[in-house]
Amino acid sequence: MRVVVVGGGIGGLALGAGLRRSGYEVAVFDRDTDVAATGGYHITLDQRAQSALGRLVPPEVMRRLLASGSALRLRERDAFWDRRGRLLGYGPDLAGSASIDVDRITLRTLLAEAVGEDLHLGRDASGVGYDEHGMPRVAFADGTSVTADLVVGADGTHSVIARHLAAGPTNRPAGLIGFSGRTQRADLSAAEQQRLGSRSTMGIGPRGAALYVGFLDPVGNAALDAPELRRSVTTGPTYIWGAMFPESARTESLRDLRGTQLQTALLDRFRDRRWTDHTLEVIARADPASVAAFRFNAASTRAADLAPWNAGRITALGDAVHATPPTAGMGAGAAIQDAADLLDRLDTISDGTTTLADAIGHFEARMRQRGSEVLTMAMKTVRLILVTDTPLGAVATAVATPIMAAAARLRR
Ligand SMILES: Cc1cc2nc3c(=O)[nH]c(=O)nc-3n(C[C@H](O)[C@H](O)[C@H](O)COP(=O)(O)OP(=O)(O)OC[C@H]3O[C@@H](n4cnc5c(N)ncnc54)[C@H](O)[C@@H]3O)c2cc1C
Repeated sequence: MRVVVVGGGIGGLALGAGLRRSGYEVAVFDRDTDVAATGGYHITLDQRAQSALGRLVPPEVMRRLLASGSALRLRERDAFWDRRGRLLGYGPDLAGSASIDVDRITLRTLLAEAVGEDLHLGRDASGVGYDEHGMPRVAFADGTSVTADLVVGADGTHSVIARHLAAGPTNRPAGLIGFSGRTQRADLSAAEQQRLGSRSTMGIGPRGAALYVGFLDPVGNAALDAPELRRSVTTGPTYIWGAMFPESARTESLRDLRGTQLQTALLDRFRDRRWTDHTLEVIARADPASVAAFRFNAASTRAADLAPWNAGRITALGDAVHATPPTAGMGAGAAIQDAADLLDRLDTISDGTTTLADAIGHFEARMRQRGSEVLTMAMKTVRLILVTDTPLGAVATAVATPIMAAAARLRR
């Protein structure tokens, strides 16, 4: 069976690696020309995502990934702050967590290595359909095309393939705009290093402003202590942060800015909302080249709305089907699980126990369920942030946060 995968992001590369490892004929096409030239901060992989990856990639790639990942179990428990940096409470104890955080660039590069020469870069898919023999065919912007027994759209939020199958968009803007950047821990003042600690934190203030600060240390907190295998682009304790605001004409205009200009405009936006200066140090001292803006898109949280098509020789996975805002840190993990599940289903065709349409139908049913679960979790945080931008929510946030901060002080 020849499988063509459109999109060499996290899900497409994971599938390509798994198909190649299992002996299928596979070709993965991505419009990017360099897998390392990809944005994003870090990706969280929980136990299920890691087990799925373990089935898809060779053991040595898995070991390099673990040696490049930062283990959550070695981190302090997460903390929640108000806009003045007052502690509101802590998240659960992470000592038993099997999850790891890994740079998106590191993960994508390692997956690309596992796909090897079956990955074709610089190929922008423009459409999909069937040839005269009823086999699926992908057309590219350069005028070429390829046919296959099965086409899988792993081409992300603005998927050409899923859009064709669903006869329209599969997701829409979630109402939030995100801004991300990287700040070395050592570049912060001693007081902020102390306050933020070796943990991830979330600060929420009135009028829809939120600041997530993730902590990544693939060296000190390596998930697997094997420095010789480490490939991480993050080489020391680093805060990788994501600021969030409700979408509006004003926040939309920030998307056209880059580097220092974007950083300054972002700081002004927080100061307008009366965040105190020390809470903004992590943004002010970021590497300007790392600061970027992106819109959150989300598919429906209802399983029945996802992949609204009949199972056949063209399917899709990951964000193409269940575009998930990064607020739950589960989008990439879900795409990897989709890939492992699809491979398992295809294996049932080779051993003669099922047909292609049945295998794809079972795969899509599981994917709808998984997509709905991760979207429901991610949208909880999106709604919590958006509610602080309503008149009642703004008052409630202003009144409740000092009370929560005082209660947290008493508990300490
Ligand atoms: C730049 C970027 C940064 C991100 N950063 C984070 C993050 O820091 N943390 C987090 O939790 N999640 C992040 N995400 C989201 C997370 O990576 C996704 O939820 C997860 O990767 C879903 O995997 P996927 O394979 O479905 O889609 P993606 O990983 O988005 O991959 C889609 C791929 O399809 C390719 N593509 C799109 N259209 C075409 C086309 N027409 N022809 C050929 N190729 C095409 C794209 O170049 C891309 O490589 C990021 C996504 C992107 C695109």
